[in-house]
Amino acid sequence: MTSTQDFLRETSYRALPPEFFAAAPPSPGPAPQWIVFNDSLAAELGLPEGAATQELLELLAGGPPQSGRENIALAYSGHQFGHWNPLLGDGRAAMIGEIAAPDGATYDVHLKGSGPTQFARRGDGRATLSAMLREYIVSEAMAGLKIPTTRSLAVVATGALVYRDAVQPGAVLTRIARSHVRVGTFQYAAAMDTGRGEGPILTRALADLCIARHFPEFAGSREAYVAFYAAVVARQARLVAQWMLVGFIHGVMNTDNMSVAGETIDFGPCAFMDSYNRRQVFSSIDAAGRYAFDRQAPIASWNLARLAETLLPLFDEDDATALRRAQETLEGFQPAYVAALGQGLERKLGLRPRDPGNENFIARLWRLLETGKADFTLFFRRLTQFAGGANGQAFLDLFPIEAREEAGNFLAEWRSLTAGDDFPARLALMRASNPIVIARNHRVEQALSAANVGDLAPALRLCAALKTPFLEPSPPARPEDDLETPPRPEERVLETFCGT
Ligand code: AMP
Ligand code: MG
Repeated sequence: MTSTQDFLRETSYRALPPEFFAAAPPSPGPAPQWIVFNDSLAAELGLPEGAATQELLELLAGGPPQSGRENIALAYSGHQFGHWNPLLGDGRAAMIGEIAAPDGATYDVHLKGSGPTQFARRGDGRATLSAMLREYIVSEAMAGLKIPTTRSLAVVATGALVYRDAVQPGAVLTRIARSHVRVGTFQYAAAMDTGRGEGPILTRALADLCIARHFPEFAGSREAYVAFYAAVVARQARLVAQWMLVGFIHGVMNTDNMSVAGETIDFGPCAFMDSYNRRQVFSSIDAAGRYAFDRQAPIASWNLARLAETLLPLFDEDDATALRRAQETLEGFQPAYVAALGQGLERKLGLRPRDPGNENFIARLWRLLETGKADFTLFFRRLTQFAGGANGQAFLDLFPIEAREEAGNFLAEWRSLTAGDDFPARLALMRASNPIVIARNHRVEQALSAANVGDLAPALRLCAALKTPFLEPSPPARPEDDLETPPRPEERVLETFCGT
């Protein structure tokens, strides 16, 4: 019989100074029940066959850890919608251990919704089944799209009710991440260090832990901290570019929701865009559009500036030199982002890499999307079908009458730019980078509503399809099973809710 002791080892955050964490007391629900267990992720992590035991279920529902261990909640600060909050922390979450996976990496095993901790303030420490299942579906969709992301190992229902706008079933998500160190964790360390005036003791301890885990090659070098910061900047630039390439809107890019490991983390009011709108937001609390689709790169850069501020004392003893190093390094964000976005678009559009005509053509692409408001995913999907020999009508049909001429000209220009003997290889790249099935918001919401009344079939079917988003799906049995089509007007989901 498998025991969690066989694969779950003590978390390495325990080695940090005690200011970084607090005990997270066990707080299991009355009747834990598996909602979904991610067998393929379990296998990737090297968990033994049959790992989903009753013992694991109870642990993942927020129950007591094995004897001699204690779950911990991490402390962090953060800028939330630009406002400084000196103490956030895991108010409803607990680190229960880590896994050394066959891929050589170490993964945190973290529960979300597992009960109140000392960081809970007025919160109840709980989470709703819909919010946890939403994170499960969307994070696994990101993984299917090959975008760096935290993963979801399981959702378990606790058997308790949680009180939000309505009474809802409670659940706990098991999140798997390369790191739970956020920009906000560094902000916490730096603020504590400043308060004490004894030098950057906590900041250095945290940076050393991150370097040891993610960038061991930098350890011990004189430039280790600048190299670490540069690597975080590069990963974030690439990550946000990858979001933009699939129309993903994170929704709450607060500094406490940005991981130094460069993974997408904290799936709240996030969503994939249907019809193109560069100012799109879904979060019901982001009226000003701070985290709108086209603001994601500048916001990531803003967050990274906050990270640099915390690292200045480690960059150089001389303040001016430290500041210069920080600025120079952060200046690398924009070119890295532009390059990743450009290369991604070249693949999506089947263009020859770095062809002189690409830049103009890509500018034209954004203009056409803007005026035509076509469905973002279908735009690339239909272009790929056109590239594979279909006629252009299905592509043109994505546009309103008044934008069809422009869309037709776009297709003609696309044809002349991409034609050539080397096209088949680029068509293969188009197929591998333009998803067919994404986690469309209306489908996610339908799956969550069904799950709330005990029907998990739509959620499981959606998750199964999202594992292979680039493969041609088999034709749907019923029209309502079709996961490719955008929402009808009455199905459109305009808002998703945060903090549930
Ligand atoms: P999030 O919106 O999940 O990024 O959470 C922001 C902050 O609020 C974090 O410090 C969370 O731990 C805390 N928080 C959110 N919901 C709850 C809750 N129900 N109970 C306690 N803390 C919460
Ligand atoms: Mg968060």
